[in-house]
Amino acid sequence: MRVGIYAGSFDPITKGHQDIIRRALKIVDKLIVLVVNNPSKKYWFNIEEREAMILESMESQYREKIEIHRYEGLLVDFMREKGVNLLIRGLRAVSDYEYEMGYAFTNKELSQGKAETIFIPASREYMYLSSSGVREIAINQGDISAYVDKALEEKIKLRAKELVK
Ligand code: ADP
Repeated sequence: MRVGIYAGSFDPITKGHQDIIRRALKIVDKLIVLVVNNPSKKYWFNIEEREAMILESMESQYREKIEIHRYEGLLVDFMREKGVNLLIRGLRAVSDYEYEMGYAFTNKELSQGKAETIFIPASREYMYLSSSGVREIAINQGDISAYVDKALEEKIKLRAKELVK
């Protein structure tokens, strides 16, 4: 069984992330969605909320094939623990390229050559979509329906309201 890891903050999960998860599952049989938590970073949604939103937004046929995990350490240590060497990343506009290449090379080096990264190009409609963009629109009471799953819209709007109070 081929297993891959898709790591990110997912604060919150967007349609762009969902698209990568669905497409990754054409390549792997099981996808570990790793919700990264950096204790020094401020998130809109805590780790439990971010995990729940991933499950809530994915259709059951995909939900069956994903496993949600959380980790605070180095990605390569998590990969070694799980015995998984395949990392899947989404690649948006050119601006992602520099960061993502550095990330891929560093992970390869830190894992003594074991960790491999596969990039899935962002779909045209999600090329410029990011969680931070969604948060920015939401905080200004804009329409986020094109960017996040319907099931999450209200939750995100509500959080935006709480944050401007
Ligand atoms: P970060 O923790 O850097 O904010 P994210 O959690 O937003 O990263 O994203 C995790 C992964 O998903 C990264 O590989 C990122 O490039 C990818 N990704 C994010 N948004 C999109 C999108 N709209 N289309 C394709 N890939 C995306």
